[in-house]
Amino acid sequence: MTSVLRVLDVAVQVAFLALALFTLADWIRHRDRQRVWLVIALVSLSGLVFLTPLAAAFGLSGEPVIDAAILLFILSGYALLMFRDSLIPLGKRLRVAISAAIAVVAVLGVAADLSSNPDAPRTPFQLVVLVLVVVAWVLCVAEPIFRLGVASIGRPSVEASRLRSLSLGYAGLVVVVVVSTVAGRALQNTTAAVITNLVVLIIVPLLYASFAPPEWLRRTWSRPEDDELRSALHELLLYSPDRETLAARALSWGARMVGAQGAYIQDSDGSILAAHGMTPSAAAELAGTAVTSRTTVRVPLDLAQGTGSMTIIAGPFTPLFGDYELLRLRGYAVSITAGLDRVSLTERIAGLEKAKTEFLDFASHELRGPMTVIKGYLTMIAAGSLGDVPPRAASVVPLLVAKADEVNSMLEQMIETSRLEEGRLALRKERSDVGRLTEDAVEYLGPLAGDHHIDVKLPPWTLWAEVDPDRFQIVIRNLVTNAVKYSAAGTPIEISVSQKDGHALVSVKDLGIGIDKDDQRSLFMRFGRIKTTATANTPGAGLGLWLSREIARMHDGDLRVESEPGKGSTFTLEIPLHSD
Ligand code: ADP
Repeated sequence: MTSVLRVLDVAVQVAFLALALFTLADWIRHRDRQRVWLVIALVSLSGLVFLTPLAAAFGLSGEPVIDAAILLFILSGYALLMFRDSLIPLGKRLRVAISAAIAVVAVLGVAADLSSNPDAPRTPFQLVVLVLVVVAWVLCVAEPIFRLGVASIGRPSVEASRLRSLSLGYAGLVVVVVVSTVAGRALQNTTAAVITNLVVLIIVPLLYASFAPPEWLRRTWSRPEDDELRSALHELLLYSPDRETLAARALSWGARMVGAQGAYIQDSDGSILAAHGMTPSAAAELAGTAVTSRTTVRVPLDLAQGTGSMTIIAGPFTPLFGDYELLRLRGYAVSITAGLDRVSLTERIAGLEKAKTEFLDFASHELRGPMTVIKGYLTMIAAGSLGDVPPRAASVVPLLVAKADEVNSMLEQMIETSRLEEGRLALRKERSDVGRLTEDAVEYLGPLAGDHHIDVKLPPWTLWAEVDPDRFQIVIRNLVTNAVKYSAAGTPIEISVSQKDGHALVSVKDLGIGIDKDDQRSLFMRFGRIKTTATANTPGAGLGLWLSREIARMHDGDLRVESEPGKGSTFTLEIPLHSD
């Protein structure tokens, strides 16, 4: 047992020596102010363990060694509390009061002349001081153990694991110290002593992991969060409505990914697009400075409009940024860049769409007035109300009236389109005779029908449907004018009204140029004109079919096409029949 214990004793001393050396080396390399109290806590704790063998090696013993041990002991507890204070502030008054109390305990500890021999008889004063020292230390570490443990809940996984390691490590130390103090000499050469040493050997790596976890450990800790991050990233990149929201969401995940305290994204024009864990003005101030410390990392964002950047600022428990974090952040930056560019593009397209709709609205309303006047006078000229017109001039008047009607029908489509897009197209439905409305629409076309023979076939009975008569007629007129426009003069156009499966069907059949299968897919799109030589010279805005199908769908119906190039097309409007 004695030899096992001796080996374990040496192992514990080596472990603490290593803890002190690695901690100091890591801190000297990075020199971050935030972890300074943690360094003091861990180094003083380690110093405490190898103080006795070190003193023996230098032939020192007795009072000064004991005093140094008491001071190191108290310092290790006090430093942990101060580290907690740097993370979660205690408040100035409390900090001063605690510091004063600890100083008093330290002075008492030194003044009590405690002996290094645990068997030596103690005066009541020495006993009280000993208890005071242990209680003060336990209180100093118990509070941070609890607070840091609680603070770890809900934190990014790397940060949370570090806080938990620290809490667990110190909790183990409390148990060891209390057990050693209470049991005193009784603990020597027992299984309990072996267990205590083994516990200490587990605690040391825990403490180091909390201070500077190696890359493989950080990777392991962050793994469970990676899947969550992947799906969040997917959501964020696809569904963020604007750049600011995307940047803010991206930052909170970026900070979470590496356990950072603050982060901000600077846009290509230098403005702060979003800030996380800090105010935008603080971010703007920092953005003007170069990154010099390893507690801050800045990765470029190669945006379409120029280069922006994402800056991440470490918190007390962020693993100092290493290659692993940099690699992850760079990969993340590429995704954010793609996301921001996508949103910019969507915003631009939405802006263009809006401008287009506004233009349609503006142009159609502005043109409607003059066109009404032109059409009015032309009709009067045609009717002879303005006196005699020379025969040659009179011969072109019907053509002018037809052209004016063509422009009017285009304006009507434009007005309806802008209404539809702005959600202002409200149907005024009423029970209507579908055959009658179709006939009226065709009749209204008049000269627009050109040289075509238009045949309207109606069923022997009336088909009733709930429709907006004006909008229904817009659809029919549009289908018939298309049939006229896209078929040769003189060819017949057949319009038939029928009934099928509870629906009224109105089909408009021409023997015109027809439409290719591939082109049929883009027919019903807004501004969807087919670019063939046959249609290139035919006037039209490409709005008619889109508008017609939208109107049909607003009636719970549909508009379909069957066509073969060179043979002709049949467009069929389908509207539910009125049921009673
Ligand atoms: P437009 O004002 O250009 O006629 P539409 O939306 O009414 O707009 O039609 C879209 C395109 O569909 C037309 O440009 C034309 O190429 C094609 N199209 C429409 N109707 C017919 C038809 N009856 N025959 C052949 N092509 C047609």
